[in-house]
Amino acid sequence: MNTDSCKSSDAEILRRIAGMLSLWRLCGNAACRRAQSCRGRPYRCARHSAALPEGVRAFLVAFLAARSCRIPFEAFQEEMEGSAEAEAYFAWVAAAKERPFSSQVRNKRDAPQNEA
Ligand SMILES: [Zn+2]
Repeated sequence: MNTDSCKSSDAEILRRIAGMLSLWRLCGNAACRRAQSCRGRPYRCARHSAALPEGVRAFLVAFLAARSCRIPFEAFQEEMEGSAEAEAYFAWVAAAKERPFSSQVRNKRDAPQNEA
């Protein structure tokens, strides 16, 4: 496996994936949640992927597998359309837009006062 080709862009890829998955929603970093995007070191947002719903994690694994196989995004989209994983992903993203501050936020100290 050629690892040299992706080193320089790893942080940017992580940041994009964190954004794609709305991981800021689960992040303990208040700056990420306020900005609704990854604001710190991207691996800090990315490590919250374990708290994602199972279907969303499956979608992420499929996305990463497709990416590592250099499958064009359009082909990936077409293959995933209507799948349980895609449904879970879109439901998660929609929920993130509706309720940016998930009750799953781990660092309650930074959570807004109206958080349940
Ligand atoms: Zn974060």
